[in-house]
Amino acid sequence: MTQQHRNEFIAVAGEHLPIVDNTDVAVVGGGSAGVSAAVSASRNGARVTLIERYHHLGGMASGGMVLVLDDMVNEGNEIVTTGLVTEVVERLEMQDAAVYPPPEDCLTNWEMWRKWSRWGCIDFHKTGMPQPIVHAVAFDPDAWKRVSLDLLKESNVNLRLHSWFSDVLTHDGQISGVIVQTKAGRQIIRAKMVVDATGDLDVGAAAGTSYADGQFIVTTVFRLCDVDTDRAESFEYANPEKYKKLDRAARREIGGAWGMWWLKTPLPGVVWCNCPHMPGYDGISVEHMVAAEYEGRKRMMKLLAFAQKNLPGFENARMLGAAEQMGVRQTRLLRGEYVVTREDIKSRRYFADTVCRGRDYYTPYRALLPKGLDNLIVAGRHYSADSEAQKLSREIPPCMVQGEAAGIAVTLALEAGSALRDVDYQNIQKRMRAQGADPGDRPSPNALIDNNPLAA
Ligand SMILES: Cc1cc2nc3c(=O)[nH]c(=O)nc-3n(C[C@H](O)[C@H](O)[C@H](O)COP(=O)(O)OP(=O)(O)OC[C@H]3O[C@@H](n4cnc5c(N)ncnc54)[C@H](O)[C@@H]3O)c2cc1C
Repeated sequence: MTQQHRNEFIAVAGEHLPIVDNTDVAVVGGGSAGVSAAVSASRNGARVTLIERYHHLGGMASGGMVLVLDDMVNEGNEIVTTGLVTEVVERLEMQDAAVYPPPEDCLTNWEMWRKWSRWGCIDFHKTGMPQPIVHAVAFDPDAWKRVSLDLLKESNVNLRLHSWFSDVLTHDGQISGVIVQTKAGRQIIRAKMVVDATGDLDVGAAAGTSYADGQFIVTTVFRLCDVDTDRAESFEYANPEKYKKLDRAARREIGGAWGMWWLKTPLPGVVWCNCPHMPGYDGISVEHMVAAEYEGRKRMMKLLAFAQKNLPGFENARMLGAAEQMGVRQTRLLRGEYVVTREDIKSRRYFADTVCRGRDYYTPYRALLPKGLDNLIVAGRHYSADSEAQKLSREIPPCMVQGEAAGIAVTLALEAGSALRDVDYQNIQKRMRAQGADPGDRPSPNALIDNNPLAA
């Protein structure tokens, strides 16, 4: 599949574009990381404009229908993703749109497994059975969109939906604004600082920063309705061997899925299906994404037919719908001031300039900073990590904590009139703590504190 027609190009003449906004901070991308960055920057006193290509906010967390907040706890149920993550969960709860185990249920035994595993509240990094029940949150995607809108409005963020970032404006080698494509034509938003929260490093790539081409499985996530989840669970627990066989057959039908391919959601009778796994698709290629759309929809209908016929509890199940956005896990990855490695994540390496964290890993400030640009920072799944490290550190809550830290960093740079790389990371850590977030500056007892100069 090719990106260009026989590698032909046509030069398009210069345009006169309207400046529709002049702001301190342009946050490009309204996913979980972008919304956090925008709210955080605005609450710290900057004028902020958030630019999003779709009509909704949340990215993978809502349009992509990824419906469990994971990687929130370190060993011993130490909750490490706090600040805006906690605030969002509280707001979802107020709308009856979040379900998670109380601390006394976070145990490793079969009783709790039966109670919580189909909500996705398990430590999926542990292989022994039953897996520990941990603090993880099942939520409703539409409520996520409402909560995101409320947060932006209350924080006075200027929101520009339906605006597809297409290019950067530059001046003296630095970014001076962004160009977006809209129904009304191309428009300019001038900005002193830019947060790239596109998930795919669209801004960084346009600005010429260094990156690696990453790739992982893509998934056309979907939900089924009219599922009798009580009956499905009773059958599973009363007939474990029979269920295992059926489940294996179901996963063959869909062509690749995690063990828990269906999970309960806050809506009764509605289950979230985090499958199929489709390798080999490039999440920034139109041709690949179209092919994945056809393939994913074919597979999900095959699984539905199998489930209706064979899985107790799914007899009356119907297709509620596929996610609005293709489930893309990894594309371009920043090659920034520091590149987090798989070894860093696996060894729980602590960095002195850690400004955000997830589960048991630490993210240095340098991993959010591109080389050679003074006023661009990234937040989200395209941060500076190698492909294997990113696969282990890309969940929604850590992306939100990155956003919160990036929002603080841009305001500190604006206040000092300095480049982002000259912001004192200790000031980011202090502000993170002041606003209730854990920047990871105080390593947990299981962290690796070594003599690696990059870790110092
Ligand atoms: C199928 C699947 C299952 C997953 N399962 C889990 C799970 O169970 N739990 C968990 O915590 N995490 C899970 N993840 C990971 C997690 O969902 C993502 O890594 C995380 O949501 C990324 O957030 P983000 O804000 O960095 O990026 P995104 O959510 O991708 O947000 C990027 C935003 O930028 C916008 N955007 C992109 N390009 C442009 C542009 N050019 N102009 C304007 N706007 C633009 C997008 O529309 C989007 O709103 C899963 C991911 C997938 C795909």
